[in-house]
Amino acid sequence: MTTKKTSVIGFPRIGKARELKFASEKFFKGEISEAELQKTAAEIRLYGWQKQKAAGIDFIPSNDFSFYDNVLDTAFLLGAVPARYKELGLSELETYFAAAHGYQGEKGDVKALPMKKWFNTNYHYIVPELDDSTELAVAGDVKPLREYNEAKAAGVHTVPSLVGPYTFLKLARYNGKRNASAFATPAVNAYLKLAEQLAAAGAEWVSFAEPALVFDLSEEDKQFFKAIYSALLEQLHAKASVKVLLQTYFGDIRDVYQEVVSLGFDGIGIDFVEGIKSLELLKTGFPKNATLFAGVVNGKNIWRADYEKKNLLLIEIEKVVDASRLVVGTSCSLLHVPYTVAAEQKLSPEILKHFAFAEEKLVELSDIASENPDAIEKNRTLFGIDRVKATPSVQSALAALNDSDFVRSPARAERRNIQAAEFNLPAYPTTTIGSFPQTAEVRANRAAFRKGEITREQYVTFNQKKIAQCIALQESIGLDVIVHGEFERNDMVEYFGTQIDGFIFTQNAWVQSYGTRCVKPPVVWGDIHRSKPITVEWSVFAQKQTSKPVKGMLTGPVTILNWSFPREDISLKTQAQQIGLAIRDEVLDLEKNGIKIIQIDEAALREKLPLRKSDWHKEYLDWAIPAFRLVHAKVRPETQIHTHMCYSEFNDIVKDIDAMDADVITFEASRSDLKLLDALNEARFETQVGPGVYDIHSPRVPSVDEIVKTIHKIIDKVPQANVWVNPDCGLKTRGEAETTASLKNLVAAAKQLRAEV
Ligand code: GLN
Ligand code: ZN
Repeated sequence: MTTKKTSVIGFPRIGKARELKFASEKFFKGEISEAELQKTAAEIRLYGWQKQKAAGIDFIPSNDFSFYDNVLDTAFLLGAVPARYKELGLSELETYFAAAHGYQGEKGDVKALPMKKWFNTNYHYIVPELDDSTELAVAGDVKPLREYNEAKAAGVHTVPSLVGPYTFLKLARYNGKRNASAFATPAVNAYLKLAEQLAAAGAEWVSFAEPALVFDLSEEDKQFFKAIYSALLEQLHAKASVKVLLQTYFGDIRDVYQEVVSLGFDGIGIDFVEGIKSLELLKTGFPKNATLFAGVVNGKNIWRADYEKKNLLLIEIEKVVDASRLVVGTSCSLLHVPYTVAAEQKLSPEILKHFAFAEEKLVELSDIASENPDAIEKNRTLFGIDRVKATPSVQSALAALNDSDFVRSPARAERRNIQAAEFNLPAYPTTTIGSFPQTAEVRANRAAFRKGEITREQYVTFNQKKIAQCIALQESIGLDVIVHGEFERNDMVEYFGTQIDGFIFTQNAWVQSYGTRCVKPPVVWGDIHRSKPITVEWSVFAQKQTSKPVKGMLTGPVTILNWSFPREDISLKTQAQQIGLAIRDEVLDLEKNGIKIIQIDEAALREKLPLRKSDWHKEYLDWAIPAFRLVHAKVRPETQIHTHMCYSEFNDIVKDIDAMDADVITFEASRSDLKLLDALNEARFETQVGPGVYDIHSPRVPSVDEIVKTIHKIIDKVPQANVWVNPDCGLKTRGEAETTASLKNLVAAAKQLRAEV
């Protein structure tokens, strides 16, 4: 038996104690220098390399680090930086942050580049923007080379990992006449030069990440991919002695497998976790002299790998590729899981033994690759038994569900009249998405309560004071539909998870969401149910402070599930229904207690939409949309149901969004230039809509004029009577001063427009 080698696609990069986040924040506030920020970054990189080396990983990545996002890094590496950022005259790193966050200061005022969800994860990437003046060429700081050398100096030989040219060009946005194919040759030349530099520095392998190959590909896409890589491989093999790894992940590459295996890659990385067809494809043949990097350890979930199953899979794989050319790897970057189970002190060993985070996955890779008999034996005890017992009340509630649990009546148009009479709102009603700035004192109050330093009464009194102030502020600003501000919540999913039975929580299991912002996903451990009201006391208190309607604020079942680590022993549909029933109890309790508008956030609805269109309905939407309807189908006609989605990009599922049957939907639109509006228009979208009129991911304050213009663009496409005016997401990450200023402008803009109606 040959011991197989091991590889990792990417390692977490925020720092074990989120050092990068804290250092970046200090840097933005001017509290530390760029050099100090760079030092923190270098320490984080070194930690990851050393961990992987100590675990005996054979193929350790470099250039998987990023200050914000790897796609943005690639844009900077290739010189694809829009002129408006360069013209600010900032340092290279500050220019980079200007593109990531936007910039408003003495040197100018520019918005950030748009941000989009990274495939089917909760990570977000920055969309590169290419225009006719873009010249793709390696320029400025050659980050992959710098980081390769840095690892080498630390005694770690790494595989520089690059976002490949196909994926880069497919994800970019084209603002001029030149499209992706016009950039193919310059891109090939730039990557070629880069690979040569890496080879000269001593790199044996260079990895080209091409996750975009797991989408449905058109004939044109396939030709484009082939053209890029046949040119690249030919020149690379002629000029530089470096092995080329084509690394794919997030699914199988069924549309392009034959091309991939015939192009002459030295290594091919294939995902055997999410790639349902990968094994079948492999069996059609694999090049004799290439190495297979088999993604067998799940890079996206935190449960221990079942070694026996993995070994069975490897036996199948070895029928095609022998062990000497087989590398056991992660299915995708470990960026999507936390650092280590060792950082968890509160959960019992009985629970923790079921988990493998990034560092534990390194051990799994070695165990699986070496077929370590003791480890296999120990692993066996985790499987084959019922990890948790089913909860009888949940099981009977699920069994009792019938069609009427999923259909609200009367129909939306009829409800609309009833609600218009109930609320009597002006044209262009204004509202916010829910949270208000989470100042240090707000967080300190929660932390003190959590640690038992203050009584529940003190905790509640503080929050009530904040709620009262927040409502007074909203009234003074002139907003029409008020929120309580969400001061009691750390996170829209964790907050609900902690109050519903069936979830468990970690202390330190942070995962990056965008930039250095992290989330700490709950773990679905057992059957889910709600045993007591969650938000009612806050919403009722808030409603008492004002005669304007206060929105109850909940998170929907699909988002709770999508932002949790789901169970692997029961289906996602069943988990969504269990959560749906729990949130339904809360909706009905809010209604019973006089809350007339209830927002059920589905920020992450699109997140788990399968990457291939043919799987959308049967694998996902057919249970996800009904799970949302389950939550609100039983409310009275006069109760207005809102929902909210982020980074939605739901152009292609507009009909499904309408079928959620909410009365109002607010969503992110400002960063993607309102492209969704055409789709809403075409679909004759019925739900009232609040396309966010400004970007809350940036501190910049939009002017009244700017907001008026944005609303004009909206009513070009959406009937004016359907339009709500709101920011594009919650305000919790913003400062108080900029929030007040922005909302005042928002209300002023709405008022100006009412005069036109
Ligand atoms: N209601 C939540 C908030 O305002 C929604 C957050 C989100 O969409 N991510 O914070
Ligand atoms: Zn949002």
